[in-house]
Amino acid sequence: MFEKFDDETRRCIFMARLAAAADNSKTMTLLHFLAGIRKESPTIFRNVNWAKVPLKLVRLTPESLNLASKANNEIPVDAKGKRALTAAPEIAKKLHAEHVTPAHLLAAVFAADAKLRKQFQKAGMAETSPKNAATQRAQAAERQRVSRSGIGYDLHRLAVNRKLMIGGIEVPFEKGSVGHSDGDVLSHAICDALLGAAGLGDIGTHFPDTDPKWRGVSGLVFLRQVRQYLERKNWKIRHIDAIVVAERPKLGPHFPAMRAALAKSLSITSEQINLKAKTHEGLGEIGRGEALAAHAIATIES
Ligand code: MG
Repeated sequence: MFEKFDDETRRCIFMARLAAAADNSKTMTLLHFLAGIRKESPTIFRNVNWAKVPLKLVRLTPESLNLASKANNEIPVDAKGKRALTAAPEIAKKLHAEHVTPAHLLAAVFAADAKLRKQFQKAGMAETSPKNAATQRAQAAERQRVSRSGIGYDLHRLAVNRKLMIGGIEVPFEKGSVGHSDGDVLSHAICDALLGAAGLGDIGTHFPDTDPKWRGVSGLVFLRQVRQYLERKNWKIRHIDAIVVAERPKLGPHFPAMRAALAKSLSITSEQINLKAKTHEGLGEIGRGEALAAHAIATIES
């Protein structure tokens, strides 16, 4: 019955046994469960004025459990305690939680004894409903998450007798981009956005164009390498948005293939990559078809 209970909740139950033993009780009661939760997950009770809760529970302090000899597996759980143990996984399931947490167990304890719940509410326990307890924990986890963004930009000249590589695929065109590597503006801009978000410098530092090793290398190879740098620092890629600026050719029809290639090299889904195309209204080098550029922004999360 405990396979859905997380480690912390299992420890709460172990401590509840210890509380029953320390209490010389013939059965494990809801008060022992509360003592166990208080010992293992004290923050749940941070607003409680202990002078206003059942005296027996007050005596079962976390310190007294430290002194208790050992948990006695022989002590049976009483009827209300059994009800709480059965209800806890049901509460977790209702809240779409994968595991039963101490907050779910606490909610089940209060569900089994309304009087006890009232007593704790009077003692200052702000919220004893399971939904809010679980929501609070989820919000706390969310607050701990760190998210960062980075920006990237690249430009390459266009010349005849070169392949036009954009977003890891070859786009049929009369010209191609000039560069030490394959000149893939989009992949390079995304590399810089990712490196920037993770605070890891820029593409030139990691893949210098003075190094013959990178001659003609695909932008996707750089992206795979950058992904590994991020993984080592425990960053996960959440989303990438990019703009390719080129007068010609039309890029929209190639976007699905580009997104698939980029996503594969970054180990994310195509849905996490958004691509946009712009012309340069005939102005400047890009407008004259002498160059193309790309801007990218990446969001990562720890
Ligand atoms: Mg470049």
